[in-house]
Amino acid sequence: MATPLMHGVNWVSDSEDDEELPDSLLKRASQPPTMTQWWTLLRRELWYPVKMDGNARGSGHSEALKNYNLGRTLGIGSFGKVKIAEHKHTGHKVAIKILNRHQMRNMEMEEKAKREIKILRLFIHPHIIRLYEVIYTPTDIYVVMEYCKFGELFDYIVEKGRLQEDEARRIFQQIISGVEYCHRNMVVHRDLKPENLLLDSKYNVKLADFGLSNVMHDGHFLKTSCGSPNYAAPEVISGKLYAGPEVDVWSCGVILYALLCGTLPFDDENIPNLFKKIKGGIYTLPSHLSALARDLIPRMLVVDPMKRITIREIREHQWFQIRLPRYLAVPPPDTAQQAKMIDEDTLQDVVNLGFDKDHVSESLRNRLQNEATVAYYLLLDNRFRATSGYLGADYQESIERNFNHFVSSESANSSTRHYLPGNSDPHASGLRPHYPVERKWALGLQSRAHPREIMIEVLKALQELNVCWKKNGHYNMKCRWCVGFPQATDMLDANHSFVDDSIIMDNGDANGKLPAVIKFEIQLYKTRDDKYLLDMQRVTGPQLLFLDFCAAFLTKLRVL
Ligand code: ADP
Ligand code: MG
Repeated sequence: MATPLMHGVNWVSDSEDDEELPDSLLKRASQPPTMTQWWTLLRRELWYPVKMDGNARGSGHSEALKNYNLGRTLGIGSFGKVKIAEHKHTGHKVAIKILNRHQMRNMEMEEKAKREIKILRLFIHPHIIRLYEVIYTPTDIYVVMEYCKFGELFDYIVEKGRLQEDEARRIFQQIISGVEYCHRNMVVHRDLKPENLLLDSKYNVKLADFGLSNVMHDGHFLKTSCGSPNYAAPEVISGKLYAGPEVDVWSCGVILYALLCGTLPFDDENIPNLFKKIKGGIYTLPSHLSALARDLIPRMLVVDPMKRITIREIREHQWFQIRLPRYLAVPPPDTAQQAKMIDEDTLQDVVNLGFDKDHVSESLRNRLQNEATVAYYLLLDNRFRATSGYLGADYQESIERNFNHFVSSESANSSTRHYLPGNSDPHASGLRPHYPVERKWALGLQSRAHPREIMIEVLKALQELNVCWKKNGHYNMKCRWCVGFPQATDMLDANHSFVDDSIIMDNGDANGKLPAVIKFEIQLYKTRDDKYLLDMQRVTGPQLLFLDFCAAFLTKLRVL
């Protein structure tokens, strides 16, 4: 029988703040815990026996948090309370985790908290909670992070029962990209579960709670047994040595199951039985799952970690590939690359707040934490969050944030570097450049017309230019333009789409001279002010020729 999704977090309650608890927490606390939850509670109590100080709102915080207006409690974690706050300089909302140092020292927890801080401080990824600053006082540590309006994914699944495949896939794609980023930066999360996945105001997932993560070193195996039992891999609960990434894959498999089924694959009131099920990989797949989902889940829940699917293979899986947003279609950059990039417009906004430009650039380059850098990152995040996203496949903002809208910090003091169509970003190491939505960066094709009408015009123009295309979605197409190949149209079907990729020749004409082939992608975005912006991105082919093509294309569209 299917087991309902049960919460695995601690049951520590702080009576003083009870009236502030979100409904979901109160609901949860009013139900008696099951055996599994008791076990989890017990286990977490053993590891994190933190009692709340009941002082989260008192005047004691006012000096340290002078740049913030502190608000209500968002959640209670094992390390401390998390409260909402407003950043006074920028007016943006943040979440502040308040950790009492005295209690942590007593419980020897400071190391664990420091680990979380160390890890999160370095990470910049659209699906990993952003850490803006850490304030140390003799009594407390305040961790200022990105605020996630819609709370835990756990509550979302419980509320919805189970998610439709498309929605589950969107969330899962985001989780995998965040996990992949962690692994690329040598961090295994080790406590992935829906309680540690938060949802922002657009229901984008953010990986949170890195308390159990450990920096993974090549050749070193992680020995600590950790995580929540329902999501823990067999090798973890068996106490075996394990290398890392594959334990996150297992947890992601359990999460995917929970998303699609609204239940846990492995659960039992009796802990030894639960462990038996996990170690034996014994679970059932409901019949409502699609064939592709039925194929992917069992590959993730393979008991032998060596035979388990890898993140790279998950990426390539057909189920994962469906409606994969473009910004998630490329592996994420690593932190070293990101550290070199400074967004010039945001830098100017910080300067407008009264900070010295050289000082801000220097601090950003050296990854220093000060008032200016905190303001910079808050403004940067909110700038891109304000962009309402791509039709049909949202979350476009992070494309620019990660890969494109930046100038190299070396040139941050000089003029803004403009990325021309197809111009490759030297810091993106092979990542394809994308168009930003900002006005001065735009290709120049903005419209208030209905998106369908825009696409009809676009297709007409492409047809006139003898471009072949293949639709990835209503608003996204792969295109190919063969210079000096007017007859290329003959090979196309009535819809002007590729009949077969292989019949469009890439090289060799009658004279033995290579015809130039440009491959590019077209995508229509919705911008923050309800306009639509056409983005063209060169994939391969001579850059200058692509510019020529863009000019011809724009002429056809009568915007030049
Ligand atoms: P713990 O390490 O004890 O699990 P978490 O970091 O998971 O602590 O935080 C505890 C709870 O506080 C979360 O489960 C969530 O409900 C809430 N919370 C934490 N961070 C945020 C945030 N950035 N935005 C909104 N709510 C948050
Ligand atoms: Mg947590």
